[in-house]
Amino acid sequence: MGDFAFVQTPRQDPAKKPADERAREFTEIYAKFDMEAAKLQADRCLNCGNPYCEWKCPVHNYIPNWLQLIVEDRIHEAADLSNRTNTLPEICGRVCPQDRLCEGACTLNTGFQAVTIGALERFISEEALARGWQPTLPDIQPSGKRVAIIGAGPAGLGCADILNRNGVEAVVYDRYPRVGGLLTFGIPEFKLEKDVMQRRAALLEEMGVKFVLNTEVGRDVLLEDLLKEYDAVFMGMGTYTYKQGGFPGENLPGVYAALDFLVGNVRHNLDLSQENTPFVSMAGKRVVVLGGGDTAMDCTRTSIRQGAESVICAYRRDEVNMPGSRREVSNAREEGVQFLFNRQPVEIVGTDRVEGVRMVETRLGEPDARGRCRPEVVPGSEEIIPADAVIIAFGFDPSPAPWFADFGIELDERGRVKTNEQFQTSNARIFAGGDMHRGSDLVVTAVDEGRRAAEGILEYLEV
Ligand code: FAD
Ligand code: SF4
Repeated sequence: MGDFAFVQTPRQDPAKKPADERAREFTEIYAKFDMEAAKLQADRCLNCGNPYCEWKCPVHNYIPNWLQLIVEDRIHEAADLSNRTNTLPEICGRVCPQDRLCEGACTLNTGFQAVTIGALERFISEEALARGWQPTLPDIQPSGKRVAIIGAGPAGLGCADILNRNGVEAVVYDRYPRVGGLLTFGIPEFKLEKDVMQRRAALLEEMGVKFVLNTEVGRDVLLEDLLKEYDAVFMGMGTYTYKQGGFPGENLPGVYAALDFLVGNVRHNLDLSQENTPFVSMAGKRVVVLGGGDTAMDCTRTSIRQGAESVICAYRRDEVNMPGSRREVSNAREEGVQFLFNRQPVEIVGTDRVEGVRMVETRLGEPDARGRCRPEVVPGSEEIIPADAVIIAFGFDPSPAPWFADFGIELDERGRVKTNEQFQTSNARIFAGGDMHRGSDLVVTAVDEGRRAAEGILEYLEV
């Protein structure tokens, strides 16, 4: 269709399962585009001279170029190009908050709605793999160097990918039995089915990345030993200290930390041991989820799928100021989640177990240092929302290991690992990236930091 296709072809997202069907299953809710739909959607791209989408994408994907390759049905080349800048393209295509990133920056937003960039990024790898594509590696010259990577989450995988492509042996250690970090043990199946991560892990393995699972560094193997055995170490260990509300009643039975609840559910679905994160069923319960980010949304939608009687999400700001992806908020609402905006919990009430949450209403006051309006309490607005279970999803603080200090790894005032621009810590042989360095954020920003840290390591090792 060419230059002005966006005038005739409206934006179309991939088909979504009906809400009542998806509210019963732990499977992805979006279908894949077929080739014809993908071509039509890709052809809407204006091919701007200065593509804002590319700048806004943290890994700076060559978006207009791979969109054009879809239009021309050159899927293998599109996959080569998309895999060159992103270690996890079909995963970012599923879980990135595109409305805040690439699609939010698309020029067509001025009246025509953005190109469906995320769904097309996912389509490229899915279609290419279905047609037998395998990632191609440039002629790798082994450098003889070896790097240990702690953490098989997006940051660790991003780092391993780039090191491997440059002839450095990348060995990834993880304490969990599967690769993926929060992609496997965090984000639920309705956003990302687990075999998608498993397939990408297998591709990385075929490309030469090695995994040592069920191995916790600091317990099963010591950092000291890794430093003896390898030329450098990259840490992509994430953030796992959950933020508490600091109000009475948080320790009552029936109050759960968001990630423990989600991990217990994933492990139950995967038939893995739930020893440290027991499976909790919300079937028949009135559930209140406190918080407004991606984690909160995942908890509400998991509770719905488990058969909760009702699910309320209470957030202290208004809908516009919610940190989570707009798409996921709207999916949650369609599936039956009720939202209470401008509500702040002050106490979880109950005698032997949780019976409700005492809330006050808030209104938005003056902006804080980051430009976000501070919620102020409306006097006399207190009420108790009845609940049989409460899930606390206020986000995560860094969780630095006690042994960091023994190796001179410095932290900032919030507990994040400090690095220079090459992602090198205060110990020259140790690099760090992802959530443990920037604070809990996104899959794509962790991938980006892992990849850029690998560049720093290559420079340090003079490869
Ligand atoms: P992680 O993914 O946390 O990986 C760290 C890995 O290090 C883990 O596998 C851990 O086992 C391992 N590890 C830690 N310590 C050790 C040790 N001592 N020895 C061995 N291994 C160790 N982002 C999005 O972009 N979109 C979303 O929709 C989204 N939804 C989310 C939903 C939830 C519930 C949560 C919690 C987060 C979500 N995020 C989302 C954020 C995203 O998952 C993270 O920002 C991202 O996974 C961070 O990557 P990472 O590699 O830094 O850390
Ligand atoms: Fe958009 Fe994320 Fe893909 Fe970048 S990685 S193009 S931000 S979906």
